Amino acid sequence: MQDLMSTAPTVLVFATGGTIGMRRTDRGLAPDPAFPDALDALVASICAPLAADYRVNHLSPAIDSANADADTAPRIARAIGARARTVRPRGVVVTHGTDTLAYTAARLAFELADLGMPVVLTGSQLPYGDAESDARANLALAIRAALRAKPDAPVSIAFGGALLPAVRATKFQADAFEAFRAERPLAPSRVGLIGADAAPADPGDPARVIPFRFAPGTTAADLRAASAGEPDGIVLECYGSGNAPMAKPGMAAALRDLCAELPVVAVTQCATGGVDFARYAVGHELEAAGVIDGGDMTIEAALAKLGYALDRGAQGASLRGIMSFNLVGELG
Ligand code: ASP
Repeated sequence: MQDLMSTAPTVLVFATGGTIGMRRTDRGLAPDPAFPDALDALVASICAPLAADYRVNHLSPAIDSANADADTAPRIARAIGARARTVRPRGVVVTHGTDTLAYTAARLAFELADLGMPVVLTGSQLPYGDAESDARANLALAIRAALRAKPDAPVSIAFGGALLPAVRATKFQADAFEAFRAERPLAPSRVGLIGADAAPADPGDPARVIPFRFAPGTTAADLRAASAGEPDGIVLECYGSGNAPMAKPGMAAALRDLCAELPVVAVTQCATGGVDFARYAVGHELEAAGVIDGGDMTIEAALAKLGYALDRGAQGASLRGIMSFNLVGELG
C-alpha cells in the first residue's frame, strides 16, 4: 500500500478479470473470489525490490473478457482516468483477459493518450494459482514497464516477454505464452487526439462498431444483413490491398446502401500491409461506394478508432478525416 509520506513511485494496478484471476471449477475457469487478496500479495512482492508503492483497484464485477461489450473499454478508461487523477501514479497496469485484450488495449490507446503516464495491459494464459502460470512474469514485466516508461509513452501490452504497441497488437496464439504479436511498427504519431473538449460529458450509450469479414462464399444478402442489428459503424475485413467480391450480384448496390446508412471502413485481412484502393478495379469500386480507407490499421485498432471518433460526435467529412490521420501511431 502507499505510504502517504513516501516519495517512492507508485504503480496503479487496475484488475478487470480474465484468466489471470480465475480458478478451475467443474464448469471450467471462472473468477476466483480469493484473487483480490492474492493480487495484492503478488503486486507487493513485485514492487518491493523495485522500491515502488502500489494501489490495486478492481472492475466490479470481474469479467471473462469474452463477455466484453461496447462500453467495457470506455468504462475502464473512465475508471483509470478518475483513479489516476486521485492517486497520481508513475504508471498504470491493467490486467485483462486475453480474448479481447487487444481490442481494449487499442481503445485505451485513444482514450488515454493524453493521460500523462504510461498505461500497460497484461494478463496470463494460465490462472495465477497454477504452478506453471505466466501470471507473475507478465505482471512483473508490466509493472516494470509502467514504472520506467516515459510519461507520454504509447499504451502498450506486456505479455510473454514482449512489450508491444497497443494499436498494432493482435492475439495470435490461443495457447502459447507468447500470445500477442505486433507485425507492424508503431507509426510516428503526427496528429494527436481529437480535442479533449470533444469528449462526451454524459457518455450515454457508446457507439457499437462491428466487423464484417469477406470470404469466397459471401453474398450481397450477407453484407446487407451486417447492419440488421443496427450497429453504428462497420469495419470491413477485405482481401489483400482492400478488395472484395464486387462482381457478385447485388454486391455494389449493397455496399452503396450500407455506406449511405453508416460509416464503413476497410482494412486488410492480412497481417502486414494495408488498403490501397487504387491498385485493383474492385478496390476502386469499394471507394466509389463510399467505403473509408482504413490503411494498414489492425482490425482491433480500426474498431477502436471508429468507436472513439463516433463517441466524440465525428461524422461525415470530419469522420473521414479522422480515420485517415495517424492519431496515436495506429496508421502507417
Ligand atoms: N476467456 C479469458 C478472458 O479473456 C481468456 C484469458 O484471459 O486468457 O477473460
